[in-house]
Amino acid sequence: MVSSITVRAPSSTANLGPGFDVFGLAVDAFFDEITLTKTKSAVSIITDDNIPTNPENNTAGLVVKNMIKRFKIKDGIEIKIKKGVPAGFGMGSSAASAAATVIAFDKMYGLKLDGNTLVEFAGTGEKASAGTIHYDNVAASVLGGFVIVRTNPLNVIKIEPPMNMRMCIAVPKLEVPKKKTKVSRGVIPKKVRLIDSVTNLSNASAVVAGFMKKDPKLIGNSIIDVIVEPARQHMIPGFAKVKENAMKAGAFGVTISGAGPSVIAFSDSLGDLKKISLAMSKGFASANTKCQIVICKPSKGATVIK
Ligand code: ADP
Repeated sequence: MVSSITVRAPSSTANLGPGFDVFGLAVDAFFDEITLTKTKSAVSIITDDNIPTNPENNTAGLVVKNMIKRFKIKDGIEIKIKKGVPAGFGMGSSAASAAATVIAFDKMYGLKLDGNTLVEFAGTGEKASAGTIHYDNVAASVLGGFVIVRTNPLNVIKIEPPMNMRMCIAVPKLEVPKKKTKVSRGVIPKKVRLIDSVTNLSNASAVVAGFMKKDPKLIGNSIIDVIVEPARQHMIPGFAKVKENAMKAGAFGVTISGAGPSVIAFSDSLGDLKKISLAMSKGFASANTKCQIVICKPSKGATVIK
């Protein structure tokens, strides 16, 4: 058994419009790197990034604590975190740390856990950021590709995305509130009209069909959410314009990435991705907001690199 291991885990986009709390997609826009090293003392965190260093408040720390307890490990562990995924922008930042940590721990102790169990442990880490356990981002970041999350019991279904699928993600330069996920969950309606539920269900089904048929256009065209996006979009300055511009530039579909504020446009390798990106920047500029644009592809899951 090794005494130190480094794992890289990708960013992810959750929901994909109608798949609220159910769909996730790993994207190669950003990566977190986690190094676990066995020590003789307690669990500790080293990082240069602006995230909590108390293991109880850090997704990676919480995962290590939970796994140490579950597998009765006697070692202490030092967790080195190199953030690449910006925290709090709807790109699954806290989830990427949790995902990398689970894979590193599994390899370090030769546990050979199955996919659902890995995702379950990664999900327990999310309690440190969102306050609740949710699996959409961690499932994508652990397993890679497109994931459908079923809970009670947890059952994650993975589908390989089309090779030619492309996304443009606009990450606005905004101050995000500390408990952003909690705040953005607070604005979602508690009750939905049956007709809206039917619309979202048909669109979500078509998104899944798009992944099965390896059809980026069907995926993009079906990313239409009449329940959560309308309730949240006011929290993103310029959202309507960003969306309209990207669609005019040829995007198949546009929605909020996770709980936002990043906005994601779906296309394929034949799309004019630079034009879509520029159109999104202009949309944010119309609301006096700067943004970083990343053109990306679906990603594989968390991988050992050292
Ligand atoms: P997102 O998925 O949009 O990145 P989250 O709400 O899941 O947003 O995560 C951001 C919050 O989680 C931040 O407030 C941050 O302090 C906290 N957090 C805890 N652990 C980590 C971690 N390892 N990496 C990033 N953020 C973390």
